[in-house]
Amino acid sequence: MARVKKEKIALYLHFPFCLKKCPYCNFYSLTLPFSEKDYAKALTQELFLLKSFLKDLIRNYEVVTFYAGGGTPSLFSPSFFENLINFITKHFNFSPIELTIEANPETLFLDKLKAYRKIGLNRISLGVQSLCRRGLKFLERVHTPQKTYQVLKWIIKANFTNFSLDFIFGWKGQGEKTLKREIIKALDYNPPHLSFYELTLESNTPFFELYGLEKPWISETKIIKLYKLIEDTLNSYGYERYEISNYALKGFESLHNLFYWKIKPYLGLGPSAVSRIGFLRWKNPPNLNLYYQLLLEENRLPLEIIETLDRTSLAKEYILMGLRLKEGISLKVLKNKYKTKILPEALKKLIQEKLIKIEGNKVVLTFEGKLKHNQVVAFLWDHLEFLKS
Ligand code: SF4
Repeated sequence: MARVKKEKIALYLHFPFCLKKCPYCNFYSLTLPFSEKDYAKALTQELFLLKSFLKDLIRNYEVVTFYAGGGTPSLFSPSFFENLINFITKHFNFSPIELTIEANPETLFLDKLKAYRKIGLNRISLGVQSLCRRGLKFLERVHTPQKTYQVLKWIIKANFTNFSLDFIFGWKGQGEKTLKREIIKALDYNPPHLSFYELTLESNTPFFELYGLEKPWISETKIIKLYKLIEDTLNSYGYERYEISNYALKGFESLHNLFYWKIKPYLGLGPSAVSRIGFLRWKNPPNLNLYYQLLLEENRLPLEIIETLDRTSLAKEYILMGLRLKEGISLKVLKNKYKTKILPEALKKLIQEKLIKIEGNKVVLTFEGKLKHNQVVAFLWDHLEFLKS
């Protein structure tokens, strides 16, 4: 009998707790004291209820990534994760290749890292943010560069061969020299993966209140120079910019995040987490009390359906996400899978403006195009033709 192919899905768990709220961050997280026990109860109840919800959406699946994000999941103990992973293994078809935990340096010590590794977590995404004291001060982070160096030694000692160092750049006072020094220092630890996110001023954050929409301390030209410096330096050390903000040595790309960028199915648990399975996208409310109440008192899933995606919105999403990747989007996939065509004059215009390149039947962003990803996407969305099935 022929075996039915299992659909691979990614699993995200949100941990909405932090030691302190950073002034630029708009992720859902609280600084409350929290109870591991309560959160474990709610998460396992959500997993349990999701199991039957999923039955109607996806028949044969296999969870291949586990990603604990936040907030600060590394505030949680190894035994918390051990119990959680055991629960998932028992109730889901769970054969993860990559199990990531996002971590902040101040929450880690050697024994905890060894215990995380022992229970099966095999990737750390470390919130370094900056390796410069001034940077950490401006970003109001609680750790120091020294703590990060110490933690990096421990990560290696605990046998994590896959880890990512996550940076924020474009903070007040950071010039090319400082950024270059930070990158070189980071490379001393041979990280297989690095992320560089430009500091953005998000609404509903103290930085937004203070500065508004524009960063008054840095010009657009300077920001472009910083992007170039990151790309050139990391390329020269063998890293590939496989996504706008992400660099990896070959084989160390984030499998979990590729699910988002490649429009593959993912499940998100915890307050504020988003899921997409097939044509359905849903979101949990960004409200811990409500999350607890719905799951533990009313015994029901907290999710709200955001949308039922039709082919048009999936095509748009493919363009939005796919253009973030080095491999870009395929005109053939767009036509055959999404029954959508980009008008030739639109492509021509973007080529003339040096924002995109055509490689075979793929559209990829140039360096300049990556700087204007949102504008390119909006322009393409306005120049689509939807074909009849
Ligand atoms: S630690 Fe991370 S998630 Fe928490 S407030 Fe700071 S940036 Fe946001």
